[in-house]
Amino acid sequence: MPAVHESVLDAIGGTPLFRLARLGAGLAAPVYAKAEFLSIGGSVKDRAALSMVLAAEREGLLAPGGTIVEATSGNTGIGLAIVGRQRGYRVIAGVADRAAPEKSDILRAYGAEVVLAPTAVPLEDPAHLFNVVRRLAEETPGAWLADQYDNQANPDAHVRTTGPEIWEQTGGRVTHFVAGVGTGGTITGTGGHLKAVSGGAVTVIGADPESSVYGGGDGSPYYVESIGHFIHPDTVEDRWPQAYRKDVADAFERIPDRESLMTARRLAREEGILAGPSSGTAVAAALRVARRLGPEDLVVVLLPDSGRSYLSKAHSDAWMRQWGFLEEDLPEDGLPAQG
Ligand code: PMP
Repeated sequence: MPAVHESVLDAIGGTPLFRLARLGAGLAAPVYAKAEFLSIGGSVKDRAALSMVLAAEREGLLAPGGTIVEATSGNTGIGLAIVGRQRGYRVIAGVADRAAPEKSDILRAYGAEVVLAPTAVPLEDPAHLFNVVRRLAEETPGAWLADQYDNQANPDAHVRTTGPEIWEQTGGRVTHFVAGVGTGGTITGTGGHLKAVSGGAVTVIGADPESSVYGGGDGSPYYVESIGHFIHPDTVEDRWPQAYRKDVADAFERIPDRESLMTARRLAREEGILAGPSSGTAVAAALRVARRLGPEDLVVVLLPDSGRSYLSKAHSDAWMRQWGFLEEDLPEDGLPAQG
């Protein structure tokens, strides 16, 4: 029987694992997907949002009548909107103008105020999303900037919940954990916990867009949103988030946009799992890893959000064709010949 909850906040996390039987067909090592789109707000970021709000309340940074402000590609804002509105706060979400429009619509539906700003300008530019939200937080009385990139309560959420869930769900048999890196909270907290409980036996693999700097790319732009890190050519100084601990990932798989997008589409068609493009990146990486493993191994890959937020992008044939990702000469399975 499904649980009866007294609050939607109790339906954050606690997500199931699904065996990827079709995409993983023929592989010796089983691949299980952690379905974060089944969290109440539809993404892995619900966990970080709840953790950051509770920590801010404990530390006296957020009090009744207060306002939560955050720069977000959407999902963290959605988590903050659900948690924040439930606990009586005003929520202002600064959203990158390149993010899928569905996410802004969802934010407004949950009662958040949305401010659109660019991220494809130098960090020094006052118009940059990060500077816009910083100003909003300074100018709004009682405002608290969640600051997911540098907030320790973000990775901590995964040390407390995502990591232990995966360990318990696999009966301690997980040998490889694969996840994308946005703020780094997921991979640092979950991967760090799995390494700690297994005595270092779990290998952690970052799934990164091919040109992202996390995996060693040149920082040039890519299409998959919410993961990786690209550098605007005019940016003088760049730094990595404090939510990300560089030593947790043992290796990176660098995935081209088309492989990510096609894998997200295959997940829907072949596994019945409608997930976002960053899930495509993660699963593409997990399949590459699993090809090198044996039957004694067990791969867990984290799917951050739902494909419902990308019906106008990755899951739209017209959008895919517009950007040259769908070509008529592709093989039947939709994947380019060379992964
Ligand atoms: N995928 C999606 C769709 C996301 O919204 C995020 C959060 N930016 C991530 C992956 C990366 O998660 P994290 O910030 O924990 O690294």
